[in-house]
Amino acid sequence: MRKVAIYGKGGIGKSTTTQNTVAGLAELNKKVMVVGCDPKADSTRLLLGGLAQKSVLDTLREEGEDVDLEDIRRAGFNGVVCVESGGPEPGVGCAGRGIITSINLLEQLGAYADSEKLDYAFYDVLGDVVCGGFAMPIREGKAQEIYIVVSGEMMAMYAANNICKGIVKFAEAGGVRLGGLICNSRKVDNEREMIEAFADVLGTQMIHFVPRDNMVQRAEINRKTVIEFEPTHPQADEYRTLAGKIEENTMHVIPKPMHTDDLEKLLIEHGLAG
Ligand code: ADP
Ligand code: MG
Repeated sequence: MRKVAIYGKGGIGKSTTTQNTVAGLAELNKKVMVVGCDPKADSTRLLLGGLAQKSVLDTLREEGEDVDLEDIRRAGFNGVVCVESGGPEPGVGCAGRGIITSINLLEQLGAYADSEKLDYAFYDVLGDVVCGGFAMPIREGKAQEIYIVVSGEMMAMYAANNICKGIVKFAEAGGVRLGGLICNSRKVDNEREMIEAFADVLGTQMIHFVPRDNMVQRAEINRKTVIEFEPTHPQADEYRTLAGKIEENTMHVIPKPMHTDDLEKLLIEHGLAG
């Protein structure tokens, strides 16, 4: 089983990209579990057609230790197993701790057992603040393969660079590796070239360039992935291509994060070239 985590700045498109890509993997007959690790608990909405299940932390709060696997997971599109970790009560406790509590519980209850025949576990992790609890899945060795969703916008690249620093910190001890950058386009000038250059300096690859397309939002309003909502649309093929590239990917590296000055220089150079 491959344990994949999707990181990136808030609002960059982690949950959308994760669910659409997982739908692509499900079409390839891969058995996937998606674990939402964002207190917003919106990581599986498109796979479940809006039928939100109760989060792991809410279930633990309400039912105590006596939790069944079927209380916290639900089957979505093409049999994708959906789980939401949920958040601690606002202002109390550490979100990262909550994620680990959830993953540990899933492990205890046998969600990763061989009998489940999972090909992938995907963690959709809010990754603005790698210094905080959100590095937990990396630190605790729960995720082995990281993809960072990024765009050509400065703050998205800045966050991606910080996430790389977090990966480096835990890579030697825990074996976590970066699988690549997913460029989720914001239609910034020269975006593809800039993210390719950024990936190059980091020692990784831009595994795919996902175009910005309103079909993503149209499908979202209908509580579906593009693959389910409009399977013949070109955007559905973009996600299928990304799914195929992840399935085939063998490039797993310890990244080389940039100094902030150099990152700004890269932005200026490519911004001006555009
Ligand atoms: P995150 O999980 O990183 O916080 P979301 O996945 O919730 O971000 O995405 C934020 C918004 O951006 C959503 O409304 C989504 O529909 C939109 N979005 C994401 N990717 C695309 C895309 N490729 N084209 C158009 N809209 C997108
Ligand atoms: Mg999200």
